[in-house]
Amino acid sequence: MTGILDSFGRSINYLRISVTDRCNLRCLYCMPPEGVPQMPHSEILSYEEIRTVVRAATELGICKIRLTGGEPLVRAELPKLIRMLSQVEGIEELSLTTNGTFLKKYALELKQAGVSRVNVSLDTLKPDKFRCITRLGELKTVLEGIEAAKEVGFDPVKINTVIMQGINDDEILDFAKMPYEYGWHVRFIELMPFKGAAEFVPSVELRQHISLLGKLEPCPDSIGITGNGPAIYYRLAGAKGTIGFVSPLTETSFCSRCNRMRLTPDGKLRPCLLGEDEVDLKMPLRNNASMNELKCLILKAVASKPEHHHLVGGNVRLVNRKMSQIGG
Ligand code: SAM
Ligand code: SF4
Repeated sequence: MTGILDSFGRSINYLRISVTDRCNLRCLYCMPPEGVPQMPHSEILSYEEIRTVVRAATELGICKIRLTGGEPLVRAELPKLIRMLSQVEGIEELSLTTNGTFLKKYALELKQAGVSRVNVSLDTLKPDKFRCITRLGELKTVLEGIEAAKEVGFDPVKINTVIMQGINDDEILDFAKMPYEYGWHVRFIELMPFKGAAEFVPSVELRQHISLLGKLEPCPDSIGITGNGPAIYYRLAGAKGTIGFVSPLTETSFCSRCNRMRLTPDGKLRPCLLGEDEVDLKMPLRNNASMNELKCLILKAVASKPEHHHLVGGNVRLVNRKMSQIGG
């Protein structure tokens, strides 16, 4: 089984699960400095509830799961959830997106629990700027986390980078060199506009700038790095790692490759990151819904996936949730 077909012929095989709305950082494009009001613990899905949703989803054809947040590693005993999910039949890939600050501590346990891939978000290689962008973080701990991940066998480590005009656009080439120098796979994600966030840099401009280092060769599904949805990958000659571009604002065919659904910490299934529709799974779960009932709700959410988002022109806000409450 390869996924659930939506109304526009896309195969939906990937579920991103935000396991918490809490985060130890306050990245300026994601959270206000004071944080966001936290959901009460009782509203957040338990690990058993998450596993039930995953079971229903895999029975329908979802085969890739990514845990995200907030910061997933601030949720207590995350490796326990990973162990639970890695035993669910039908999961081919169980991955994690993290800010990397606790990766040094957890890398080995995550690997042993069954995580197959780790993505680390990193927007600057300069310590002062790192503090500025994340408001609370320390670059050194993240770099140590990336190293630890590599040492325990997460190879390649993938890096997510959001370039912002006037903030870190002086580091585009430094990141683009990382696939040569460290074998990292770097993915540039266009900044999605939130009130107060900086200006984004279109992927086409990033590619033009990076071509100063050499020709970017399109990189079709290599070593399982691509094929996971909307990113498009390239490689500079001689580099071990790839350079990917996620271009929700500037690439017209972006949504046609969408393969995902999102589950919020409080159990809402979101057909589109940038839409406001949600299908509640928490109440049914807590009212002992049957597997079939859950599957019907998942199918309903897939059926309501829009053909494309309406994020153009730069000033759309996610009205009902912050990015940290959805998982990016
Ligand atoms: N805390 C984890 C982390 O930072 O990797 C996981 C959650 S975070 C919301 C997931 C991803 O969303 C990160 O790679 C982050 O850079 C990205 N993100 C957050 N806000 C964004 C925005 N406004 N535009 C583009 N990407 C954003
Ligand atoms: Fe936290 Fe990740 Fe949002 Fe940064 S991007 S504030 S690390 S959830």
